[in-house]
Amino acid sequence: MDRLAIVVPCYNEEAVLKLASQALRGVLEDLAGKEKISADSFILFVDDGSADRTWELIEEEHRAYPGQVSGVKLAGNVGHQFALTAGLITAKDMSDVTVSIDADLQDDVNVIEEMIDKFHAGNDIVYGVRRERKTDTFFKRTTAQAFYKLMELMGVKTVYNHADFRLMSRRAVEEFSKYKETNLFLRGMMPLIGYQTDSVYYDRKERAAGESKYPLKKMLALAFNGISSFSVKPISMILGIGLIIILVSLLALVYALFSYFTGSVVPGWTSLILSIWFLGGLQLLAVGMVGQYIGKIYIEVKQRPRYNIEEILCSRKAADTEDEDRKG
Ligand code: UDP
Ligand code: MG
Repeated sequence: MDRLAIVVPCYNEEAVLKLASQALRGVLEDLAGKEKISADSFILFVDDGSADRTWELIEEEHRAYPGQVSGVKLAGNVGHQFALTAGLITAKDMSDVTVSIDADLQDDVNVIEEMIDKFHAGNDIVYGVRRERKTDTFFKRTTAQAFYKLMELMGVKTVYNHADFRLMSRRAVEEFSKYKETNLFLRGMMPLIGYQTDSVYYDRKERAAGESKYPLKKMLALAFNGISSFSVKPISMILGIGLIIILVSLLALVYALFSYFTGSVVPGWTSLILSIWFLGGLQLLAVGMVGQYIGKIYIEVKQRPRYNIEEILCSRKAADTEDEDRKG
């Protein structure tokens, strides 16, 4: 049977930690009872450099439920995406499948069962998708939706209304760990992994306790990171605008010459207006061209895996195993 690790990043979550632990232990027991996961499945809390009692509470939970609760303490606050990555990579070698979930119980723990079912049906990644955002404030809802639309416009593949509540098989985490980039935007990276995926739907609840650890500043940073880590479209847009302005300058040329010859202009206007349009366009075009190269360098330095082989059908043995055979 598959061993499940539930990975929970926590930053100053003393108010909800015990509640989260209780709810998730309930899920583990329920699923183990139904023989959907093994009895040694566990929760992995990642303390993202909290300044409050979060880590002490994790230690207490671990003492009380050593088999079910584990913890990782990061040396400082590195942010949600890194904390989650640290948890997933730590859990990878101890489990067959992981589910990542926020500590605040906003995501419905009851759909974890459905995620596991979909995992057993052959999916390597199962996205938790919010059905609606009734409990979010108007502001959070509209900004979040504008963000998903913008991502789409920029050509970044993401799952609409999916945050970081998701199941990943061990091999999916393994593949994910090959992405060495530092500007992490996990949601955008998942579709790159490939493999068969599915979604489960749930209603997002209010925070069980405590306050959001994602103020507007962090949200904007995440949004900007999401776009700039996955798309070089903004650079291409500069190039495009430069081209358009050069075209406009040609029209301006015709108009300016026409005005010049019909004699209805102040001396100097013609050359001035032409220079402004043409040089402006040329500068944008040049910046855009330079940008294209920078975009390529940017993509290169990420050194992302170029492909992910899922299966090989081959009747030949690999050369090195043959060597082994001969030796043996
Ligand atoms: N979190 C974290 N490090 C941070 C900020 C947040 O590990 O620097 C965790 C936090 O403890 C929670 C999850 O990320 O488990 C999501 O944060 P939150 O619920 O505050 O975000 P919101 O739901 O308000 O967008
Ligand atoms: Mg939350």
